Amino acid sequence: MSDEARVDATAIADRYRELADEVRGLGGERVRIVAVTKTFPAEAIAAVVAAGCVRIGENYAQELIDKWEGFSRTNEPGSAPEVHFIGGLQSNKVRSLASIVDVWQSVDRESVVTELSRRRPGARILLQVNATGETGKGGCRTEQIEGLMSAAVSGGLTVEGLMTVGPTDGDPERTRNAFRSVARIAADLDLPEISMGMSGDWRMAVAEGSTLIRVGSAIFGERPPRTL
Ligand SMILES: *Cc1c(COP(=O)(O)O)cnc(C)c1O
Repeated sequence: MSDEARVDATAIADRYRELADEVRGLGGERVRIVAVTKTFPAEAIAAVVAAGCVRIGENYAQELIDKWEGFSRTNEPGSAPEVHFIGGLQSNKVRSLASIVDVWQSVDRESVVTELSRRRPGARILLQVNATGETGKGGCRTEQIEGLMSAAVSGGLTVEGLMTVGPTDGDPERTRNAFRSVARIAADLDLPEISMGMSGDWRMAVAEGSTLIRVGSAIFGERPPRTL
């Protein structure tokens, strides 16, 4: 990727700091930001990290691998952000991502749990839930969470919480219901982390108990189309 010209580091830093201030005001220290850098170049990661961000999120395995190499080459040792994988995750991608990813947020099936147990014993994971019942969307059904959690715990993984994506149509009532039901399940299972809320719905997610918001376009601007 040779997209340096498209990265306005100052604008990214300003938007990140404004967001961080607003998040602190609404959610206090409980809520942390995962800056979603998918489709943006390594320079965008560097810009948001320089502004104080310590967590980034990526969706696509190959894109992350390529980008991470570029980022690591220029990044000062010891200042790398925590990398959260938030995209559709197949078990055959786990191996190539194992040395890069710190938190696996999109675990939604047993084959991935099995592969993570082999490749990354003790890995930190969130279980992704499809709380809206939409088809073609990542996440297990709510009634599958407990089974998946038992499998992960038996496999020695560290289940930190749940992750969900609000309804595609963004309807406020449906969004609130989805967030509320995921927060309730996390509480029932004694899971501390709840990853929910994106650029368009993070305020509602924070009001419903989110601890990790995943924000892309509100920090980096409109996403360029995927070219990979
Ligand atoms: C792209 C993406 C985000 C960030 O979306 P924005 O609307 O740009 O904030 C968050 N979570 C997931 C799972 C995503 O795929």
